[in-house]
Amino acid sequence: MAELTLGNVTKRFDDVVAVDDVSIEIDDGEFLVLVGPSGCGKSTTLRMIAGLETISDGRIAIDGDVVNDAPAQQRDIAMVFQSYALYPHMTVRENMRFGLEESTTLEKAEMDSRVEDAAETLEIDDLLERKPGELSGGQQQRVALGRAIVRDPAVFLMDEPLSNLDAKLRSGMRTELQRLQEELGVTTVYVTHDQTEAMTMSDRIAILDGGELQQVATPLECYHRPTNRFVAGFIGEPSMNFFDVSLEDGRLVDSDIEFEYPLSSVVRDSVGETTELVLGIRPEDVELLDARETAHDFPVVVDVVEPMGNENNLLVRFPDTDTESTFNVIVDGMCHVEAGKRYVIRIPESAIHVFDRE
Ligand code: ADP
Repeated sequence: MAELTLGNVTKRFDDVVAVDDVSIEIDDGEFLVLVGPSGCGKSTTLRMIAGLETISDGRIAIDGDVVNDAPAQQRDIAMVFQSYALYPHMTVRENMRFGLEESTTLEKAEMDSRVEDAAETLEIDDLLERKPGELSGGQQQRVALGRAIVRDPAVFLMDEPLSNLDAKLRSGMRTELQRLQEELGVTTVYVTHDQTEAMTMSDRIAILDGGELQQVATPLECYHRPTNRFVAGFIGEPSMNFFDVSLEDGRLVDSDIEFEYPLSSVVRDSVGETTELVLGIRPEDVELLDARETAHDFPVVVDVVEPMGNENNLLVRFPDTDTESTFNVIVDGMCHVEAGKRYVIRIPESAIHVFDRE
């Protein structure tokens, strides 16, 4: 159990700044998911916490103790990798005990009892005498987790641990891992590029782009109050729709689609001096109507209808305008929508996000 502090942490590989001045305070027992596109610096951050990579600048502290120069074995951290890194010639029991033998001086009986407890928690106690080659991917994943759990570390670090599992197993393991982490109460930093994992498993999400921290907040805050356009576009599937607007006399204007909207006082507060802005609207917040009723309803043509069962994902475009922009719209699965037909969309003022252009 421990607090983990990243203070202005930077990692440079020659002239590549892989991690750029990242500061995060992770609470004792918190499940923090580090998320972002490939190459944004997630693994490098995790590897610096683990002690597998040196820190160019800044500090990393566990429970207030700076560990910058502490070797990996002395950090009281257990790591779970995407490749489970199990020894094929050892049984499950030996694989789980091996981590303990390497990192502790526990009595043999204590090691055995820790292995058995962890195996029970993970429901693999009937597999202890098997070799990894005799296990399914999901079972191997549990053994890898077991090897981390037996060490009873201050911090768990997990690097895309579910990415080798098929979709169904992955969704089951998400729930299970989250339950396990809560039960064990071990501070956890979990790296993924998968925003579903970030949204469903974490207490807070830390979103990185180009080595820079974009936002650290609960999943719902990231969804409802993204701090910038990058976060807004990254969180949510299908992605938020964006179009460029100008601020003119307190109104948001896009002459291409004859869009003109009064800017509410709440939104205006969040916008600086600049008048060139980006308007964002989530597909699920757009309303689809048969005919125009107000000045804020825009004629569209539905190009694509993807029936998902509970909802229909639509791609619409704006006819009779100069814009080539398309919009993602999600409507209820019971709503009958015909591809190729004209409709109108309405953008409720309360659902509008406004960002600086980047
Ligand atoms: P992610 O895990 O988000 O995909 P990484 O942390 O692996 O990103 O990489 C961040 C950046 O640092 C990338 O530009 C990557 O090419 C670079 N990088 C990572 N490791 C090294 C290394 N050992 N040497 C040089 N550049 C590296």
